[in-house]
Amino acid sequence: MPATLLYGRCNPYGAETGGPRHVMGGLHGPDSARVDTADMPGLPEAVVQGEWTCPQPAEVRVRMTCRCGHQGDPMALCSWHDEVQWHGEMVAGTVRRVRTLVRVMGHYEMIGARQSGACIRCLYPGQYAETYKALFRHQQELALLNDTGQWHSPRAAFKRQVIEDLVRSFDLGQESAGGPIHRCPMTLVPVS
Ligand SMILES: [Zn+2]
Ligand SMILES: [Zn+2]
Ligand SMILES: [Zn+2]
Repeated sequence: MPATLLYGRCNPYGAETGGPRHVMGGLHGPDSARVDTADMPGLPEAVVQGEWTCPQPAEVRVRMTCRCGHQGDPMALCSWHDEVQWHGEMVAGTVRRVRTLVRVMGHYEMIGARQSGACIRCLYPGQYAETYKALFRHQQELALLNDTGQWHSPRAAFKRQVIEDLVRSFDLGQESAGGPIHRCPMTLVPVS
């Protein structure tokens, strides 16, 4: 059976099944539409810009796996394929459009070649995911207070204190993390 029938359409980063939360290990939650490129190095530009879908049929089924065995959900990805490209060519004094077939990388190769990304669960072990989420939320609330001219209000002062405390808990490092913090590269591993 052709792979196309087995795997359906290419679906980089769960484009059709809820977005980047699978890569992030649930860190941002299903409601977060934010694509944080600092947290996800290696994300294809098209995905960062919100073009989540890919028209190519999927050829492989893979999942992101770190050295410690954390895994993302299986993804169906496209592989090498032919792409039609047009270019102009001068023929007898006029420009003629010429059609060529070019062999281009699929999402499997693109994502696989750029696996500089680190496993979020290894980077933020223990309470880190919670702290990170809380910090993000408090920073957004503080920004809103600032935007509405309430920077000097008691509420904003309290927020700043909360944020400072959270940042300090980050600084405590491993001790407060409940596990060793390390950058763990993720690779694409085929699933059957
Ligand atoms: Zn690890
Ligand atoms: Zn694709
Ligand atoms: Zn990991």
